[in-house]
This record gives sequence, C-alpha cells and structure tokens, in this order.
Amino acid sequence: MAITGGTGLTGIFGDPVAHSASPAMHNAAYAALGMDRAYVPFHVLPAGLPAALCAITAIGLLGVNITVPHKERVARLLKNQSAEARLLGAVNCVLSRRGELFGDNTDARGLAHDLTALDAPIKGQTAILIGAGGGAAAAMLALRRLGARRVIIANRTRRRARNLAARFKGLHPEVRALEELNDPRLIGEAAVVINATPIGLGSGPFVPFGYEAARPGCFFYDLIYAAEPTSFLRPALARGLPAADGAGMLLYQGALAFELFNGVKPPLEAMRRALYARLNR
Ligand code: NAP
Repeated sequence: MAITGGTGLTGIFGDPVAHSASPAMHNAAYAALGMDRAYVPFHVLPAGLPAALCAITAIGLLGVNITVPHKERVARLLKNQSAEARLLGAVNCVLSRRGELFGDNTDARGLAHDLTALDAPIKGQTAILIGAGGGAAAAMLALRRLGARRVIIANRTRRRARNLAARFKGLHPEVRALEELNDPRLIGEAAVVINATPIGLGSGPFVPFGYEAARPGCFFYDLIYAAEPTSFLRPALARGLPAADGAGMLLYQGALAFELFNGVKPPLEAMRRALYARLNR
C-alpha cells in the first residue's frame, strides 16, 4: 500500500525494536481492513525518549506502542494515564487525542484474554509467578481478574517481589527466592506457573525447577515467545503438562492497542497469521 500525505501513522518506540513483531501484526490488520494507515518501528534510545514522546503530537502520530526498556519511564513522564497503567506503573501504549497524550497498558488484559482462551485453571487456585517486573505486574492483575486465590512470587531481588506483593494484597501473595522453585512441596501447590522473566531467552537454561512435583494438569505459561518451546516450557511439555508461550499475550495486547489507536476492532486472524509468520510457526 502506498504511503501518502493522508496516511495515518502509528508505531512502536523501543530499544532495540528491530525484532518486534508488532509492525507485522498491525500492518497486516491495516491491509486486511483496507485502511490508509501504517505502523512504523522507531528505534528510540533512552536519552531520546522525552523528545520522542513530544514528537507524537508534533508530527501527528495517532498513537504508539511502548516496549523495552521504556514502559516504566513513560509511566513516570506522562501526566494523563489510565488507572490500569498507574496500577502497573508501566505504559505500553500512548494515544494522541486533540494534542494531549494519554498512556494506557493492554498487557494485563492481553494476558487475561490469552489465559482464558487457553482454559488455564486459575479461578480459586494457587499460582506461582516467577519475576517481579512490569510483565509480572501485568500477570498479577490478570490473575486477580481471573479469580486466583493466592499467588507465590519468586524473584531474584526480594525487595522488588515484596513491592509487587504489596500492590496486590487481595491475592494473599507470598514471596519466595528463585532457589525455592526446586522445592517439590512448593511446586505441588500450584495449578498454574507463569514465567515473567527473560531467563532462558534464546537457548540458555532455566533455573532449577521441580517439574516432577507438578500436579497433573498444572499449566505452564511463559511470557517469552519464540519459534520453539522455551527452556522453561520444554520440561513441562515433556511431562505431558499443558503449556503455552507469550505469543497469545502479544497478539491480544496488540489487538487491544489497535482498537485504541484506530477506533475499530482489528481482524484478529490476520494479526495472528502475521505474528506466526514472523515467529516461523
Ligand atoms: P522487567 O520489568 O525488566 O523485569 C524483569 C524480571 O526478570 C525481574 O523480575 C528480574 O529480576 C528478572 N530477571 C531478569 N534477568 C534475570 C536473571 N538473569 N536471573 C534472574 N532473574 C532475572 O521486564 P518485563 O517487562 O517484566 O519482561 C519480562 C519478560 O516478559 C521479558 O522476556 C519480556 O519479553 C516478556 N514480556 C512479554 C510480553 C508479551 O506480550 N508476551 C509482554 C511483556 C513482557 P530482578 O527484579 O531481580 O531484576
């Protein structure tokens, strides 16, 4: 599709950004709907982030996604944001409305949507959450919305896990060390285990984990997405346990952002096809 002076522009700010699957997903949706819009990846370095945010209104972008490492910083920089972005302390999309910027976060809604589509056993159950960063905060909100009874947070930095726990007291959170994930008694309590760290990204190993103690049907979910099953998911799959990576979360958070940017529902299957092609699936 030709880009003209009338083409509406959206995009993503990240560092790095070249690996992002979002341009493929959003542009596939524009093409499927025949919309005169385009989605552009912008490599924004930390030093340029405030200027890049100002540029959204200055050059008339309709909205942008925010990805690593900028989500928390954008939440600190924007005056207007949704209650959800404030709770998470992170913004993953910025909308431009009549010259004003507004931050929102679709990660928790995207993850909740995917966990529901996957029929993950969460309502009334205990979950183990590995990590305490922005993705983990989105996972806590998704678990709360889906009715989890209790969440055990395991993180390298205990203080960060305690801060996250304090924001979600209703989930009766307990904080543990990563080393405790090798304790069969702990693993046996969980109906779902979510990895919200980059551990095992690429071909690296995951931390020692008591897979053998997992209950039958215990659901393993990795926020990382890749062409092949991740090192966190592989041992679970080998034991016949249900498992999924974060491609679905990426798809649904992107679909929600598309609707915010453009005011129309996206063609989900076109976005899914573009994402899977990008992931070589
Ligand atoms: P973040 O805010 O930087 O948090 C990273 C978390 O991982 C922290 O808990 C950190 O522990 C832990 N961590 C990092 N490196 C570690 C290591 N070598 N050993 C032990 N723990 C380590 O990042 P994030 O935004 O939450 O992202 C986490 C993962 O989720 C990333 O892989 C990201 O790509 C993925 N993600 C996916 C989606 C999706 O749509 N599928 C959305 C969001 C995020 P400390 O607190 O000790 O530093």
